[in-house]
Amino acid sequence: MAAQRRLFGTNGIRGVIGKEMTASFAMDMGCAIGSYFKGNVVIGTDSRTSNEMLKSAMIAGLASTGCGVIDIGLAPTPSVQHAVIRSHSAAGVMITASHNPPEFNGIKAIDSDGTELDFSKELDIENVYFGKRFRKVDWKSVGTIQSDSEANLRYTQAIEDRVDGGSIRKANLKIILDCANGVAGLVTPRLLTDLGAKVTVLNAQPDGSFPGHPSEPTPENLVTLIQMVKDEGASFGVAHDGDADRSVFVDEKGNYVTGDKSFAVLAGYLVSKNPGASVVSTVATSDCVGDMVVKNGGKIVLTRVGSPVVARKMKEIGAIFGGEENGGLIYAKHQYCRDAAMTTALMAELVAERGSLAKLLQEVPVYHQAKLKISCPNDRKKEVMEALVETAKHKKIDLTDGVKIFEDKDWVIIRASGTEPIFRIFSQSRSEDRAEALAKDYLWKLQQIIGDSS
Ligand code: MG
Repeated sequence: MAAQRRLFGTNGIRGVIGKEMTASFAMDMGCAIGSYFKGNVVIGTDSRTSNEMLKSAMIAGLASTGCGVIDIGLAPTPSVQHAVIRSHSAAGVMITASHNPPEFNGIKAIDSDGTELDFSKELDIENVYFGKRFRKVDWKSVGTIQSDSEANLRYTQAIEDRVDGGSIRKANLKIILDCANGVAGLVTPRLLTDLGAKVTVLNAQPDGSFPGHPSEPTPENLVTLIQMVKDEGASFGVAHDGDADRSVFVDEKGNYVTGDKSFAVLAGYLVSKNPGASVVSTVATSDCVGDMVVKNGGKIVLTRVGSPVVARKMKEIGAIFGGEENGGLIYAKHQYCRDAAMTTALMAELVAERGSLAKLLQEVPVYHQAKLKISCPNDRKKEVMEALVETAKHKKIDLTDGVKIFEDKDWVIIRASGTEPIFRIFSQSRSEDRAEALAKDYLWKLQQIIGDSS
């Protein structure tokens, strides 16, 4: 039997409007999600032009299965997650394509505990969708639809309660914030102002044509933010992605801070304040995070790649902090999901208490990474991976996710993509040349294996 087509990727379902992502698709997914969960469902959207179209269709589908719908309107993904927990709902749905170009949109499903759905539940929902096994209710049981315009405010206040507002206020921080015309503009400017920082906001207006810059917070997209941090003598700069679950920082000298480094300084800080605490990251994240955690007396635990996996492991072991190197960080005292506004508030507290971000970053060990990829048909991935593991059997290996092969203190991780017919190769070393050589070496090994058996 041919494998069923997957709908959910690493971060929900994504597609181009008018192609994969249509009103009828959203309605059928609403029917599938409603049939699976039963109960109230919170729904929110990011700032894309196709949001209302997809949301209306999704709501119609959900209500037709008997689910009550709580519509919180434009909201960051973590605000929807917060509303799910607070309203004791059965699930949440976020209409978003995060950082993708404007022609994309997507659907992210959220579990009753506010975490992103795990893989097995995604598969269950896909089965309901493909089998069209939708629950239909009669006229008396159609779900009601209510709107809640206070959810973003409650979410912002919940974050304010999780940081030391007194020390942030005393520090007179000057922060430049780039909302990327996403939904961050609805929460983070207010949050930072409430905390007593002086905030200059760029691209605050939610606008799905993304007139300021594309919504992925790369260095190229943040040139204005970087320049303004320097011109204004700001304490730091911060940018969110389109649905405000990830934040990326710029230090006071105008240096773009990669996600692994901001993760490392914040993890070190939180562990130093919570002696012996654990931090969860993935086997593909730079060792600089673990080094900072251990140096500050904490424990690092590494999982498979993917923020839902990290969030669940954090819950299981009672870790205080977790995330990946893309700027999506999770603070357990707030909620078990990536949260850009929460991360920004923690950074404000860190800089208020410890001073210069540029100086704090100097303490983070420097590791170099190299990334390569190689094509491989999906139906051959398993056999190729087994052959690769066989070639590395005399080395130290870790099979948590794909295969991670250690060579002294350096490592390379090879993982099959879940959505594309490729293997990703990712290496790390203290030496830049060595990191590149290691990635190339394993690219060559994979070429041999893929070539040999074809
Ligand atoms: Mg995002």
